[in-house]
Amino acid sequence: MTRAFVTGISGQDGSYLADRLLAEGTEVHALAHADEPAPHCPGVELHTGDLTRVDDVRTLLLDLAPDEVYNLAAVSSVARSWAEPDLTARVNAVAASALMESALRVQEKHGRLVRFVQASSAEIFGEPASTPQDESTPIRPVNPYGAAKAYAHLMVDVYRRRELHAVGAILYNHESPRRPPQFVTRKITSTVAAIARGRARRLTLGNLDARRDWGWAPDYVDAMVRAARADRPRDYVVATGVGHSVRDFVEAAFRRAGIDDWQDLVTVDPEFVRPADPPDLTGDASRARALLGWSPTVDFEELVGRMVDADLEAEPAAGLSGA
Ligand code: GDP
Repeated sequence: MTRAFVTGISGQDGSYLADRLLAEGTEVHALAHADEPAPHCPGVELHTGDLTRVDDVRTLLLDLAPDEVYNLAAVSSVARSWAEPDLTARVNAVAASALMESALRVQEKHGRLVRFVQASSAEIFGEPASTPQDESTPIRPVNPYGAAKAYAHLMVDVYRRRELHAVGAILYNHESPRRPPQFVTRKITSTVAAIARGRARRLTLGNLDARRDWGWAPDYVDAMVRAARADRPRDYVVATGVGHSVRDFVEAAFRRAGIDDWQDLVTVDPEFVRPADPPDLTGDASRARALLGWSPTVDFEELVGRMVDADLEAEPAAGLSGA
């Protein structure tokens, strides 16, 4: 039986990855942070620990000797990385690199491949000279999150040269109803649902002109599993190839909720405008399509629709608020 080790189990991607691996019969072990509420993931064997405690995690990994390691743990929001740049470096860069070293030691000790997937990010490209980006686009991040992810991404190649079966999955923004509300998509869909139900009056955002390539999170988890299991370890851009602005997302969300006159309901607050913000991150996933047989299954309208519908369902019906 395949044994997988997953970090970041309490996040959106961790939960979808656990669902996916358990459904196919993989034994799933995961690192759960002691300070966070225990994630609800029946069937997953949880190990309490902190990724930045490198020696403890190394001991655990050598003990478990997994076949596959998925490093999804991160300070996952760019916004938070501005507030906590040093924590971001410790978790997203140093701990990721240490986990690669641990995986290499498992591989050497047991004399068999350990398939390692690093959840890399479009943010490593920062303000790219061209759109769409692919695996050969120069790396030049513009925020602490992107810089830390860039270090880890470069270390994937360093460890690959040392024979670790390491993959860098350069994930573009990927969303779902499980996305936490500090990300713009879920902030929009949850607030639009609240407005539709009469429980909120305004949607307050930052930069409406930023363009992102938003995909369906379970598709991106699928790409990571395919990349882990490919014969040759490589880096892959994982993206839909279609970019939309934050404004497009807002418009589509209101439309889905049946609200046509939305302009006056949206306010821009400088508090949510970032010191530096990549203007357009759209990816070219030709390599993943060609070599992994991967393609996105959910387009932009459908993605927005699923998120709005889930938030409308979770909202109390109009007139019952406060009851
Ligand atoms: P990111 O691409 O990983 O930073 O994902 P986010 O969902 O946090 O942000 C996506 C884009 O939405 C960025 O360009 C943000 O500047 C922009 N944005 C505009 N308003 C907001 C907001 O109120 N919250 C967040 N999180 N992002 C916003």
